Amino acid sequence: MLEHDPNCLFCKIVAGQIPSKPVYQDEEFYAFHDIHPSAPVHFLIIPKRHIPSMAQVTDAHAGLLGRLMVLAPKLALQLGCNPYPAGGFRLLCNTGAEGGQEVHHLHIHVMGGPRPWLRG
Ligand code: AMP
Ligand code: ZN
Repeated sequence: MLEHDPNCLFCKIVAGQIPSKPVYQDEEFYAFHDIHPSAPVHFLIIPKRHIPSMAQVTDAHAGLLGRLMVLAPKLALQLGCNPYPAGGFRLLCNTGAEGGQEVHHLHIHVMGGPRPWLRG
C-alpha cells in the first residue's frame, strides 16, 4: 500500500496542497474540521499515511488504531464536546460504498455538542 496516494483528497490535505482547518497533529495523525459539519462539533481524525479504509487494516495496524481511539476522546473535550454522561460524542467510521464512505482515506468522524444536530 502506498504511504501517500497523489490522487487522494485527504493525502493532499495532509501535504498542505488543499487547505483545511487544523484541530491537532502529531507524527502519525492529523485532525481537521469537517467542511460540512453535521453537529456543533464535527472534525475528522486521519492517519497521515494512506490507508483506504477499515477494510484494509491488519494486525500491523493495531497500535495505530489503538492510539487513534485514545486520541479521539481527548480531542473531543478540547474541541468543546461536553463531559460524559450528559454530554459525550459520536465516533463514526464509514467503510466502503455501502458503509457510506465518500473519501477513501481512513478517517473517524468525531461529532458532539448540544442537540439537535443537522443529521443523526
Ligand atoms: P465519509 O462519507 O465518511 O467518507 O466522509 C467524508 C467527510 O469528509 C464528509 O463529512 C465531508 O464533509 C468531509 N470533507 C470532504 N472534503 C473535505 C475537505 N476538503 N475538508 C474537510 N472535510 C471534507
Ligand atoms: Zn490518502
